[in-house]
Amino acid sequence: MSRLGQRPPDWAGQHLLDVTDLSAGAIELILERAEVARERVSTGSLPLDDLRGRRLALLFVEPSTRTRLSFEIAARNLSGDVVHVDVPTSSMVKGESIPDTVRTLHALGVETIVMRHPRSGAPWLAANYFPGHMLNAGDGWHAHPSQALLDLFTLRRAFGEHGLRGRKVAVVGDILHSRVCRSNLWTLTGAGAEVWLCGPRALLQGFEAWAKAMPADRRFNVTDDLDAALRDADAVMALRIQRERMDEALAGSLGEYVSRYRISEERLGLARPAAPVLHPGPVNEGIEVTGELAAGPRSLVLEQVRNGVPVRMAILSLVAGRE
Ligand code: ASP
Repeated sequence: MSRLGQRPPDWAGQHLLDVTDLSAGAIELILERAEVARERVSTGSLPLDDLRGRRLALLFVEPSTRTRLSFEIAARNLSGDVVHVDVPTSSMVKGESIPDTVRTLHALGVETIVMRHPRSGAPWLAANYFPGHMLNAGDGWHAHPSQALLDLFTLRRAFGEHGLRGRKVAVVGDILHSRVCRSNLWTLTGAGAEVWLCGPRALLQGFEAWAKAMPADRRFNVTDDLDAALRDADAVMALRIQRERMDEALAGSLGEYVSRYRISEERLGLARPAAPVLHPGPVNEGIEVTGELAAGPRSLVLEQVRNGVPVRMAILSLVAGRE
């Protein structure tokens, strides 16, 4: 029987709700195990047995392509039995509550739930009523732990042995509504990177106060000046303008956003010569980045997608794998 690995006896988490719950050692273990998983995926040495005989439910109350599919592929690569809750045809549309839904899933033999929800905090509520493992696949504006871990994994691979310490990472776009940004801020600063958050003032609300409240060893800056954010950056992460979460007043004019903040080859000239471009997707091509850049040689967008599978295999084996 072949497994990605055992859960270490001191592994702390029954759930994965936020990256802030993970120690530096736990993050390191996930990334190391993801390297092993990546190797298994690339050589086709699958499936593994970490989730054999275990049932996992994908409960996505918000749209998703990358996260949902890569969790599904990751679970199947570990021999998990995957079921989907088809939200529009489930009793959730009849007003079934979160506690009722997750207790029902448990009664049906589900041991692990991967949950996405438009409300910040929903996976914490669900975890209170679910005796198994709860994995947060993105809640409202709040957290997206597996995305931050795959972004960290992707950047570490891009930078090689020198890692992220002392690197400048510019994050540009709709900071306000981004759970990806909030989770990345924690993991990237924890890895020693200096993060620059950049976007229109209205989409930076609250982050200046947060920057001041951060522990001194975690460095991040907030600016609406794209040139300042891009200058000498070692990597640039663009974030989607989340119009579905904005009212008209906040949305402003897309044309204005494009002329001030869209990342193009020309603007990237301010960054370090080989600085890669990331985006968690889905990319609004021509808005956050130009189409050429998103599909060009400096883009790590598809590499992020590819890395989603081994990183989620590592997470599943550690959080929900058999003893
Ligand atoms: N896919 C990411 C998320 O679910 C980013 C985005 O939607 O813009 O948060």
